[in-house]
Formats: sequence, C-alpha cells, structure tokens
Amino acid sequence: MKTASLTSIALAAGLLAAAPAHAELNVVTTTEDLAALAREVGGDKVKVESLSRGYQDPHFVEAKPSFVIKLHSADLLIAVGRELEIGWLPPLVNQARNAKVQPGGEGYFDASQGVKILEIPTGQLTRAMGDVHPQGNPHYWLDPDNGLRIAKGIQKKLSALSPGDAAYFAGREAAFEKRLTEAQKRWDAQLASYKGTKIVTYHRSWPNFVDRFGLDVIGYVEPRPGIPPSPSHTLDLINDMKAKNVKIIMVEPYFDLKTPNSIARETGARVLVMAPSVGAEKEITDYVSLFDYDVKLLAAALKETTGR
Ligand SMILES: [Zn+2]
Repeated sequence: MKTASLTSIALAAGLLAAAPAHAELNVVTTTEDLAALAREVGGDKVKVESLSRGYQDPHFVEAKPSFVIKLHSADLLIAVGRELEIGWLPPLVNQARNAKVQPGGEGYFDASQGVKILEIPTGQLTRAMGDVHPQGNPHYWLDPDNGLRIAKGIQKKLSALSPGDAAYFAGREAAFEKRLTEAQKRWDAQLASYKGTKIVTYHRSWPNFVDRFGLDVIGYVEPRPGIPPSPSHTLDLINDMKAKNVKIIMVEPYFDLKTPNSIARETGARVLVMAPSVGAEKEITDYVSLFDYDVKLLAAALKETTGR
C-alpha cells in the first residue's frame, strides 16, 4: 500500500472517531444537579449522564433497563446519598455487574461526604415520624456553599481516577468557584430585605436553601415527610399561617397543586412552584442558573407579598 496510510483508511472507515486517543471518563449521576457539577469540574475530559430528570421526585425514580446499561459501563457513579435514592438505586447498581461503582468501589462517590447536612435526627426513629431520613436531610445541594463542597469532592475523585488531568480539573474547579462566589453576591442582594420572612413548603426540600438565605419555614403541606396532605393537618396549617401572616407556599414541581392552591385561597398566600434541581425548567441548564431561577421567582413573590 503506497498511497493510503493506515490512518487514512481508518479515518475513511470512521474508526478513529470512535476511538479517541484520550478516553473520557464515563460519569453517571443520580440527579441532574450532580451531573451539572461534574460537568463544571470535568469539562471535556468527562462524559456525564444523569439517571433522573430535574422535574422528577428524586425519592421515587422509575428504574429503567437502560439505567443498568449506563451503570455497567460507568467509570464513576456519583450519588446524593443520605438515603435519597434508597428506593431505586441499590438494585440497579447490583444488576450493573460493575464492581467499580458499587458503594466503596473506586468509581463510587457519595456527594454528601463533606457537605453541611441539616436535620440529622436525634433519638429513636419511629414509623409515626413518616419518611424521616436517619442520616439527615438529603436535599443539601440547595445551598450554594454545599454545591461548592460537592464540586471539590468531585474534583478530588476525578483526579484520583485520572491523575494526568488533575491540573485541568483544579483549573475548572477554581473557575466554577469564582463564578459561584460572584453569583452568591447577586443572590444575597436580591433576597437581603426579606431575612426572617416566614414561609411554608410542601416537602422538606428546602432547609439548606432557607438556612442559606435567612428565611423561616413554619410548616409543611405534608403532615410528615413523604405522607400526603390530610384535611386535619391542612386546617391546622391554614390557621397557623393566618396567625403568623404567612404569604408564601413553596412547592416542588412533582406535587399536586390542589392542596397548596386551596391553602392559598384560604390564607391569601402565593403558591410558588420552585425548581429543586437543574433541569426542572428548560432554562435551568446548570447549577448557577438553578439559583438564578429560584432566587428571582422568590424575590419577586416576596416583594409583592411583603411590600418591601
Ligand atoms: Zn426528601
């Protein structure tokens, strides 16, 4: 073969395109928030896929056969942990036949390691308490400081899996940290006048968010975590909201609006369908735009209802 080199034959056959010289790490995450953070740090050295969508309830994700295939070929699985995915992830990981991504494996990362966890229960847990998470509240990614902690954890993990790219990951993490720090100043300014404002939320998804921005949750539409609204609890909540002049009900996009709307009619409160995750709305494409969306929505409603 004089004219055609092996390279050009391979190119013509499309073989080289399928086999890049530097293979990317195949990262699977349980949620779109973790996927967004993995993309921030991993850049073009990773291929990231989330199993759940941001508009789904992360406690109850319908397991699909394709999830097992994704997990089988994953180099790294990043999970929220704190039992958020306990109802759907463990059987998938078992069926994936990939030792790397089993808990404790080199390709498994529990993103809750090293973040600030709220609502860690003390004392005996009973069934009457509802679906309480014994390891604390798993919705911790809704505090941007925790987002940064997760990103740093991912950076460490990716660097361990691909040491040659450690400097690249460090640079990406630093750029994300800078962008997030600047965004936090903007969010703080938007919500500064509303510190201490009392609100109600549907599920306990927002303790880290309200803690970060200085709001006060006085009650929940759910009588207990994971338990649907009941007439007696709803009536108590309405009375409490009237007594405390509560005008905001934050609802996750996957809950029925019937009870929140009826509470709103009785109390004059506003129902806000907030985004708990990246991907909950089309425009929320990354971790910073998640807070941009929620802070804007909340600040507008607080301005209207408080007159401040
Ligand atoms: Zn929850």
